[in-house]
Amino acid sequence: MGNYANCPNCGGSNAAKVSFTWWGGALGPALLTHVKCPDCKTAYNGKTGQSNTTAIIIYQVIAFAIVVAIFIAWVTFSTVHGLRR
Ligand SMILES: [Zn+2]
Repeated sequence: MGNYANCPNCGGSNAAKVSFTWWGGALGPALLTHVKCPDCKTAYNGKTGQSNTTAIIIYQVIAFAIVVAIFIAWVTFSTVHGLRR
């Protein structure tokens, strides 16, 4: 208890780590110290005590960019090696 910043919505100090989210799987919330207040269900950054929304958007953009980069690398690789027509 008390390991995380107080809830920005109700001031509660019982926030618990979120282990899995729809936007970041298991890695995202771990990277962003994503915690949830058990009293008002508000999720926020347990380190800064502020909303994680901006960080989540950045995380998604980066995750999307990585997927695109892997796809482009795969297309380039398979084209160079004649695996595709
Ligand atoms: Zn709260």
